[in-house]
Amino acid sequence: MTMSVNIDWNNLGFAYMDLPYRWRAYWKDGEWYKEGLEEGKTFPIAEGAPALHYGQEAFEGLKAYRRKDGQIQLFRPDQNAKRMANSAERMLMPAYPEEKFVEAVVKTVQANADYVPPYGSGASMYIRPLLIGVGDNIGVSPAKEYIFTIFTMPVGPYYRDGLAPMPFVTSKYDRAAPYGTGASKVGGNYGGSLLPGEKAKKAGYGDVVYLDPATHTKIEEVGSANFYGIEKDTNKFVTPKSPSILPSITKYSIIHLAKERLGLEVEEGDVYVDELDRFAEAGAMGTAAVISPVSRIDHGDRSYKFYSDKEVGPITQKLYDELVGIQYGDIEAPEGWIVEVPEK
Ligand SMILES: *Cc1c(COP(=O)(O)O)cnc(C)c1O
Repeated sequence: MTMSVNIDWNNLGFAYMDLPYRWRAYWKDGEWYKEGLEEGKTFPIAEGAPALHYGQEAFEGLKAYRRKDGQIQLFRPDQNAKRMANSAERMLMPAYPEEKFVEAVVKTVQANADYVPPYGSGASMYIRPLLIGVGDNIGVSPAKEYIFTIFTMPVGPYYRDGLAPMPFVTSKYDRAAPYGTGASKVGGNYGGSLLPGEKAKKAGYGDVVYLDPATHTKIEEVGSANFYGIEKDTNKFVTPKSPSILPSITKYSIIHLAKERLGLEVEEGDVYVDELDRFAEAGAMGTAAVISPVSRIDHGDRSYKFYSDKEVGPITQKLYDELVGIQYGDIEAPEGWIVEVPEK
């Protein structure tokens, strides 16, 4: 392990950093060409690029972790490859082939390995794959050329001082339409979420809870993380099911761990806002948020409170420890979840 770079690993936030290498691949006339590592954070694109005008783009987010023995590992990158292929299909873009995607993530992290934070810092390397429609265009039509890129940066833990519950608030705005692009990881879902997100944060909330766009009676998801509640008495793990939710890889991993390792009953179904009192604990799940406990959800003039506004509920803590233990290599992972990044 060569730690030649000068970074304060214990004080990293979630901020862009210009690392030496990124993956780039170019698509034209039905094939990918010029695939490999490049230096330089900028690249020219045509002013008519459909990604800029009509939101023809998709992205991903995953992390690399350094284990106690120094080895770097990825958490379920094949799932990000699959999801990005689904997003690409929805946006009428050519997907970067799934095996190539995983290999490209490995090579990009490997090339920037000095920037993967040390074990024990609580930090990790964030990986951002991006696919954009480029080339000369003006009418509403799919691009004839595409660029796929993967760039990376070290990021700090979401919570520096351990898990801290945060209040959330429901929004009158929607992030997605009932049969829109909510289940695809695309920029268009985020453009419209900036305003409600900003309003909620200014009012002191962690983030916005979006309701189902058709009836505004059910919880959909939380900003950029999926929602769960732990039912009182039964300890059942309940998480919303909806065609306009982004299918979180963290959520499906936690569902597996809740069932297989904690022996909890799991339900994916409707979570009505006016029934939130049925939960003892609640939280948000995503690559960035990991597992974030929710202290309360304000909805109009009602306020639904969960476990505590200071302490983490016991089931939330157990799920967190299990997930993070697997990600940092301290706990054995289910078959196929971990991909090691070999040294250069
Ligand atoms: C990426 C994302 C999530 C979390 O997905 P993970 O795969 O767990 O990182 C949740 N909601 C939205 C809207 C997202 O974009």
